[in-house]
Amino acid sequence: MSFDYDLFVIGGGSGGVRAARIAAGEHGARVGIAEESRMGGTCVIRGCVPKKLMVFASEAPAFAAEARGYGWSGATAGAFDWTAFRRKLDTELTRLEGAYTGGLVAANVDVHKSRARLVDAHTVELADGSRLSAKHILIAVGGRPVRPGIPGDELGLVSDDVFLLDRLPRSILVVGGGFIACEFAGILQGMGCQVTLAYRGDAVLRGFDEEMRRHATEQLRVNGVELRLPATPQQLEREGDAIRVSFADGSSAVYEQVLFATGRAPHTKGLGLDEIGVRLGSRGQVLVDEWSQSSVPSIFAVGDVTDRVNLTPVAIREGHCFADTVFGAKPRKVDHALVGAAVYLRPHEVASIGLTEEAAAASGPHDVYVASFRPMRSLFAGSDARMVMKLIVQSGGGKVVGCHIFGPEAGEMIQLVAIPMGMGATKAQFDAAVAVHPTLAEELVTMRRPTRHIGGKIAENPVGSA
Ligand code: NDP
Repeated sequence: MSFDYDLFVIGGGSGGVRAARIAAGEHGARVGIAEESRMGGTCVIRGCVPKKLMVFASEAPAFAAEARGYGWSGATAGAFDWTAFRRKLDTELTRLEGAYTGGLVAANVDVHKSRARLVDAHTVELADGSRLSAKHILIAVGGRPVRPGIPGDELGLVSDDVFLLDRLPRSILVVGGGFIACEFAGILQGMGCQVTLAYRGDAVLRGFDEEMRRHATEQLRVNGVELRLPATPQQLEREGDAIRVSFADGSSAVYEQVLFATGRAPHTKGLGLDEIGVRLGSRGQVLVDEWSQSSVPSIFAVGDVTDRVNLTPVAIREGHCFADTVFGAKPRKVDHALVGAAVYLRPHEVASIGLTEEAAAASGPHDVYVASFRPMRSLFAGSDARMVMKLIVQSGGGKVVGCHIFGPEAGEMIQLVAIPMGMGATKAQFDAAVAVHPTLAEELVTMRRPTRHIGGKIAENPVGSA
């Protein structure tokens, strides 16, 4: 049977674009791709990229304060002009969108600016009713923000909306305690909004190392974010130009805007997957095997729609491995076990790879090395902010199995730590590297004695304690 394409990709985000470009450009496959919105997907258009630019913008007041600490009298960030920033942001996103489309076109991929849905295991239908056949179909439609399902939640924003605001609100309630809630709370506070964060737990960033969670929570508070912990909004009502939020404890408060950062879900509704027998999980995710293959052999899925590790670089790797495996005769799988991540808070980011201290303690005896100190740069400027670096090492001189950093540029550092950890480096091999001085990262190779032992007979005993 002949098909219009060797591969048809639904979704022009990070995973889909990478798979299409590799399949067509490197392996010579005939490839089509459909994207209903802007090419680039969540990361480029309404996620990582604009978010990080907003983080940079929000840092200016802290930089000015630091400059004053270094003798620049009168240094101030001035007033933040959201309209000017948004204009530049829009231009940049348009440039990136063009680069993504250009990369596809250069690789001979047919770009269809349309929604697509599945008709059968080898056929997709575009919005204009036209049908295209393909030997393989890749679902890479990502996820979408979910609201909590409380009365009035349609009055609140989700993260997609923040990048499109005409003006910044004077006050905003951020609901949630995950990546998006914490990052936007920090950004909006830095840009001058009065931010309240309501989270149902005691410390933000569930799933991260507990010590890092405590520091991240405290930093939000020190920066001026009002924390309502634990708190659960139960209802939103319009009150003039603002929104009244009622909480489960009976209290209520009024905010100009509410932002729900209460998670994301796979965007599979209406794609026709169920109808053609593709097995979906309880959150609507496409269930795939280690080769990203679904229960229908011609249909594969990568990225957030599979709800494995929902991070852009993971989607990219999954898309690349899929293309190499199916079209390049180079079978490659993604190792989801050791993936680094960073939460872009300020001034200290939280970055992490491998086991948390809690998970390590549950899995066996480990040594924990912790360095906690005030970085010379901010200390000199008059800040008390502490940085924390933690290495978790298998007892008896084994491998480094976890690294957690709370500090400036922690994301940059964890990227580099991921290399030796991926190679199975031991603590002694870390220590063999001569320090680069004076840097923050030198602490990673100069922590000589364990701070505590965990997970063994002498569990939870701080080293040297009675
Ligand atoms: P997360 O899953 O990280 O966080 C969702 C938060 O909302 C959690 O704190 C959760 O609480 C809370 N929550 C969920 N449901 C409700 C509810 N019904 N009522 C109140 N609170 C609720 O999702 P995000 O939306 O923050 O981010 C989605 C994904 O995007 C992340 O998992 C991450 O993979 C990715 N991302 C990565 C970034 C990065 O790499 N820097 C940045 C942004 C996003 P609880 O913890 O109790 O479940």
